[in-house]
Amino acid sequence: VSDPQRANIPMGDGAEFDAIREMLAEWGDLARGVGDDAALLDVALGRGEQLVVSTDASVENVHFRREWMTPEEIGGRATAAALSDLAAMAASPRALLLALGVPESWREELVRLARGVGAMAERASCPIVGGNISRARELSLTITVLGSTAAPLRRSGARPGDSVVVTGRFGGPGAALRALLDGNVPTPADAARFASPVPRLEEARWLAKRGAHAAIDISDGLLADANHLARASGVTLSLDLDAIPRVDGVTAREAAASGEEYELLVALPGDARVATRDFAARFDLPLTVVGSVVAAEGEPVQLRGAPIDLARGHDHLS
Ligand SMILES: [Mg+2]
Repeated sequence: VSDPQRANIPMGDGAEFDAIREMLAEWGDLARGVGDDAALLDVALGRGEQLVVSTDASVENVHFRREWMTPEEIGGRATAAALSDLAAMAASPRALLLALGVPESWREELVRLARGVGAMAERASCPIVGGNISRARELSLTITVLGSTAAPLRRSGARPGDSVVVTGRFGGPGAALRALLDGNVPTPADAARFASPVPRLEEARWLAKRGAHAAIDISDGLLADANHLARASGVTLSLDLDAIPRVDGVTAREAAASGEEYELLVALPGDARVATRDFAARFDLPLTVVGSVVAAEGEPVQLRGAPIDLARGHDHLS
């Protein structure tokens, strides 16, 4: 896998091309159509299918610190975060582009970063079709993903009477982050949820097929993202704080505020109990009803069993 000749891309000499060759060698067949000024994609869209595009930046000392994760985890986590936005739309990944800002102190770790990106892309069956590499003061990975779907889920489709359901269990990334910031060692389970999130791509398509009306992925925290969905839909989400499924050792409040979960929050019509049972049988993951959609009244998110000051969430620019 580490044989640069395998990439067999006619490129020039120099440090930049050496770096690109190393990454292409690491990715092997996962890298497609690289070598021209731009990628040519055979995106044959089916009837009614739309292209879905999203981009996401992961910046050292803003989104993570070097000592918190392995380079493989940093690459995989950045890729999962980008793919999670396709999951939120119930789209299937089609291609990925990676723009890297690389300080000299990270140069030796480039292949390990690429390995993390490649492993997550492969898991999502998503070819890597291009990118860019530039010297920078801090490491950054900006990942653009292209997907497609004939039945996109959006934030704006929730209707009164829908159930509000979530995938997975909450609180792990928040607990890991608190431990790291306090100079403690997170539990292995919390550390794994923080460093190795999984985009819920298949789960989202399953829920879309099941008739879901709206969805969002949880990057800012369950309550903050519930707010985004409620505002976009012009409804109120009435949530039961105690119903939020959570990992061991965290409170309901912590679970509700924990960001970078990359789980899904979905507005689902019909009998949600049947859906949760079928979902659990299909995926090794719980689907849990945490509330219901009601007509807009007062705050976009109303919490049973807690004061509303919780629903502030995370501000990327603060
Ligand atoms: Mg998102």
